[in-house]
Amino acid sequence: GRCDTAPVCEVGHYFVDHANPESVEAALNSGKHEPHIPKNKDRDAYRAEGGYKILQECRDGKRNVEDVIYEMSDAGLRGLGGAGFPAGKKWELVRSFASPRLMTINGDEGEPGTFKDRYYLERNPHQMFEGALIGAWAVEAERIYLYMRDEYPAVLHILAQEIAALEAAGLIEKGEIELRRGAGAYICGEESAMIESIEGKRGYPRNRPPYIAEVGLFGRPTLNHNVETLYWVPEILDKGANWFADHGMNGAKGFRSWSVSGRVKKPGVIVAPAGITVDELIERAGGMEDGHKFKAYLPGGASGGILPARHGDVPLDFGTLDKYGSFVGSHAVVIFSQQDHVADVSINLLEFFKNESCGQCTPCRVGCDKAVALLEKEKWDTELLSELAQTMRDASICGLGQAAPNAFVTAMEFFPDEPPRSVEPDDQQDIDG
Ligand code: SF4
Repeated sequence: GRCDTAPVCEVGHYFVDHANPESVEAALNSGKHEPHIPKNKDRDAYRAEGGYKILQECRDGKRNVEDVIYEMSDAGLRGLGGAGFPAGKKWELVRSFASPRLMTINGDEGEPGTFKDRYYLERNPHQMFEGALIGAWAVEAERIYLYMRDEYPAVLHILAQEIAALEAAGLIEKGEIELRRGAGAYICGEESAMIESIEGKRGYPRNRPPYIAEVGLFGRPTLNHNVETLYWVPEILDKGANWFADHGMNGAKGFRSWSVSGRVKKPGVIVAPAGITVDELIERAGGMEDGHKFKAYLPGGASGGILPARHGDVPLDFGTLDKYGSFVGSHAVVIFSQQDHVADVSINLLEFFKNESCGQCTPCRVGCDKAVALLEKEKWDTELLSELAQTMRDASICGLGQAAPNAFVTAMEFFPDEPPRSVEPDDQQDIDG
């Protein structure tokens, strides 16, 4: 969640950005172990700018649910946690199942390369709260569970403080928004695993159907949204669906918050139209770092595959990369240069999935392990790797196992001439040990 300031070292809960041995040592010696709380817009500041006006209009009956849902659909707002499901349709779907209903907010943001939700919550948490309360109003959810990743201590601090401020102001009842801490598992960013975790169980993804819109948290119909999706809700209702929709490019609708990191001069969150290309994103990120030439990119974090620079002019949005076996997911774009080795990147990504596989199903649990072993060989057995990829895609329960092969399948397709990394015996010991 801090790829924009990599490398980062956490000393206690204090983050040393752009860490080096000296800065880490200095932090250790200074006794700084508490998180740095960034300056953020509190409830009063948000209200002073007209915040919570839309929510009040909804609650006062000045807006009706059908119109609000229509506006969401017209704007083309989609689930920005990675799945891209249309928000308006989701609200309609959840409402179609019998109450009582619940709402969950997925703040687990565990996809490597993604840090946009942290960016918003550290600066303007109430815009997300207002969006969440409008969503809860629309589907008549009794309670909101906000699941936040534990690696964001500053965000957890801000949220706890601002939930208390909302309660004190009477905008929500005590306990209406319940803050839950994750425990570091990537898989708990998968919505059904997150729900299991909130219920106090091990975070195993559920088999579907039924979908959580029908049978979700504690068996109730559940509206689940990512932080950024909710963040856009009040602004869309305030400025109108067209304002949002018209900002897309190349046929796409709306804004996206791109987490851009890697070999660019100014990594960070870039708010830009959906449908933008990676060439343009690099330009907006200040260009490539000195001495680096654009070679490849991850369009969607660890799961979305690796694409070559020659596909830098492809519009990025949900569905536009299907033909390349790739996707934008949570819009985490990582840029590589001629100094990076694609095979190393693939191994790194599969090591990650191997560590984070929840182990519930064999194709993923054994498949990730097997993939790492095959990728570390001096010569890649492309036939066997392709067969393994197909098995994982066909037979894994959830998106982790289904998408994990994207990293090496795209590497084999787009970088066939790049020799796989040969692992030195010393490196092997490091990997094993
Ligand atoms: Fe768990 Fe992987 Fe199976 Fe998903 S695909 S349920 S992460 S083992």
